Amino acid sequence: MSENYKFVQNRKCEYFPCHKVKNEDEFNCLFCFCPLYMLGDKCGGNFTYTEKGIKNCSECTLPHCKGAYEHVMSKMKLVMEISREK
Ligand code: SF4
Repeated sequence: MSENYKFVQNRKCEYFPCHKVKNEDEFNCLFCFCPLYMLGDKCGGNFTYTEKGIKNCSECTLPHCKGAYEHVMSKMKLVMEISREK
């Protein structure tokens, strides 16, 4: 079975590739905006914080690498838990 839903690439995007990577052929645009940002320090990515405490993801390529789909999906249970009605 094919797994085309896990990978999409838009080389016509004016920002492609929006992060520097070794292999552009493997650059995954599926998660253009990372759905894990709201997880704060639990996203599993390579983030820093600015002096003002803003989460900075500019050095993180996790949502664009091979295995991005699997990583994001592994965190969706946590996203759903945080987002549920309280
Ligand atoms: S881009 Fe990286 S550091 Fe930022 S939220 Fe997503 S996984 Fe975490």
